[in-house]
Amino acid sequence: MTTNTEVKTYLNYINGEWVAADTGKTSESFNPSNKDEVLGSFQLSSANDLDKAVSAAKAGQKVWRKLAGSDRGNYLFKVANVLEEKVEYVAEAMTKEMGKTFAEAKGETLRGVAILRYYAGEGMRAVGDVIPSSDSEALMFTTRVPLGVVGVITPWNFPVAIPIWKMAPALIYGNSVVLKPASDTAVTAARVVECFHEAGLPEGVINMVTGSGSVIGQGLAEHPSVDAITFTGSNAVGKQIGRAAFDRGIKYQLEMGGKNPVIVANDADLDLAVSATISGGLKSTGQKCTATSRVIVQSGIYDEFREKLLEKVSEITVGNGMESDSWMGPVASENQLNTVLSYIEKGKQEGAKLVHGGNRLTGDETANGYFVEPTVFDEVTADMAIAREEIFGPVLALLKVDTIEEGLAMANDSEYGLSASIFTTNIGNMLEFINDMEAGLVRINAESAGVELQAPFGGMKQSSSHSREQGRAAIEFFTSIKTVFVKK
Ligand code: NAP
Ligand code: MG
Repeated sequence: MTTNTEVKTYLNYINGEWVAADTGKTSESFNPSNKDEVLGSFQLSSANDLDKAVSAAKAGQKVWRKLAGSDRGNYLFKVANVLEEKVEYVAEAMTKEMGKTFAEAKGETLRGVAILRYYAGEGMRAVGDVIPSSDSEALMFTTRVPLGVVGVITPWNFPVAIPIWKMAPALIYGNSVVLKPASDTAVTAARVVECFHEAGLPEGVINMVTGSGSVIGQGLAEHPSVDAITFTGSNAVGKQIGRAAFDRGIKYQLEMGGKNPVIVANDADLDLAVSATISGGLKSTGQKCTATSRVIVQSGIYDEFREKLLEKVSEITVGNGMESDSWMGPVASENQLNTVLSYIEKGKQEGAKLVHGGNRLTGDETANGYFVEPTVFDEVTADMAIAREEIFGPVLALLKVDTIEEGLAMANDSEYGLSASIFTTNIGNMLEFINDMEAGLVRINAESAGVELQAPFGGMKQSSSHSREQGRAAIEFFTSIKTVFVKK
C-alpha cells in the first residue's frame, strides 16, 4: 500500500539524457518515517546500462578535459545556483528517503552548494610548481592531468554532500563521472543530478546509473574503461572495491567506518562537553561516519557528566524529520533498525548498564517507521562489542578512566581512526591529544562530527585508504602529476 497517489519513476542519466534501464526493472524507495510512503522508484540497471554510461563518460571526458579550467568552473557555478534554488526540493527528498531532519537536510544541501562553488574556483588556481633544473637552459615544471573516467560510489547517510564532494573535484580537474548512488537514497541522488542537467553540462561529463551494489558498484570497479574509483561506505564493501581496483592497477580512494571517541577531562567545561557529545553522537540519528560513539570520561567528573548527559538526552524529541519539533529522525532503513537493535541487545548481554532508551518507538506516530530511542549505556568496558564495532545509530557508550593517558590509550584502542574530540581546558592535555591521537580529524572542545569543506577530510587506520578528500587535498586523488622538462 502507498499513501502517494502518484509515484514518480526516476531514470538513469546517461550521455545527457534520462533513460530507463534496459532490464525494464525498477525498485521503490521508502520513507523510513513511514514505510507505507513510497518516494519514487528508480532503475535496477544491468552491466549493459553501466557499459553505456562508461562509454558516454569516456567520450565526454575527451571534450571536457580540453576546456579551460575557468570554463569548467563556470559550469559548476551554474550547478551551484540551480541546487541553491532547489534546496527544498532536494532536502525534502533526503528527509523523506533517509530520515534526517529537514533542517539538517537543508544544511547538507547548502553545504553541497558551497562545495560546488569552492571547486568552481579551483578551476583558476595553480596546479603545479616550477622546479629549478640542473640544466641552466631548461625549464622544468609540474602540471596535473585528469585521470579520465572516475567511478563514484556513495552511501546513503550524506546523500547530497558526499556525491558532490567527490564529483565536484573530479569534474573541475577534467575528469568525467559515472555515479552509482546508494539504493536507499537513489531519488535524492537523481534530484542532485537533475541540477547538473539543468546547468547544461556537456553530454557524457556526468552520468548516473542506479541499481544494486554488487552489479553496478562492483561493475564500476571492474570496468576496463574506468580509470579511478572513489568510494565512501562500509569497510566490507570498501575492501572489495579496493581489491578490484588494485587488480586493474587503477587509483582508488576509500572512506569507510569509524568508532569515534570523545574524551572528557576532569577540567572540561561540562555543559559544552555534554551538548557536543549529544550533537556529535545523536544528530542524524548517529548515522554519521564521524559520529561520537565512545564517550571516555575521567573519573573525577564521571558521575556529574553522566547526570547532565542523561538529563539532556531525556529532552530529545524523536519523530518524523519533516516536523519542525523533531530533533532526531528515524534510522534510515529496516536494515539499520535491525543492526542498531541487535547492538543494543548485545550491549545488555555483555553486561553494560542501559541507562537511557534502548527501544524501538511504537506509538501512533512512530510505529510505521524505524524510530529508535536515543540510547545511553553506562559501565561499558573497552572489550565490549558496543565499544569496538561501528553501530551507526543513536547509541552512546560511556567508559570511565582515571587519567588522560589512560583515556588516550583507550581512544586509540580501535581499528578505526576517523575523528576524535577532547574536552579540556588544559593545554598539556590538548597537545598530548593532538600529537598522540590516531585519527585523521582531531578536535579540541568541539564535537567529533564537525567537518569544514575547505579542509582535508579522511581517516587513519581502517577508516580510509589513506588519501584525503575535500579542500585542496582533493587534487591529489583526482589528478596525476606530470613532470615537464623543456629545452630550447
Ligand atoms: P555500503 O553498504 O558499503 O554501501 C556504500 C555504497 O556501496 C552504496 O552505493 C552501495 O550500493 C554500494 N555497494 C554495496 N555493495 C557493493 C559491492 N559489492 N560492490 C560495490 N559497491 C557496493 O555502506 P552504507 O551502508 O551505504 O553506508 C554506511 C557506511 O558508510 C558506514 O560504515 C559509514 O561509516 C560509512 N561512511 C563513511 C564515511 C567516511 O567519509 N569515512 C562517510 C559516510 C559514511 P547499494 O546501496 O545499492 O547497496
Ligand atoms: Mg529509504
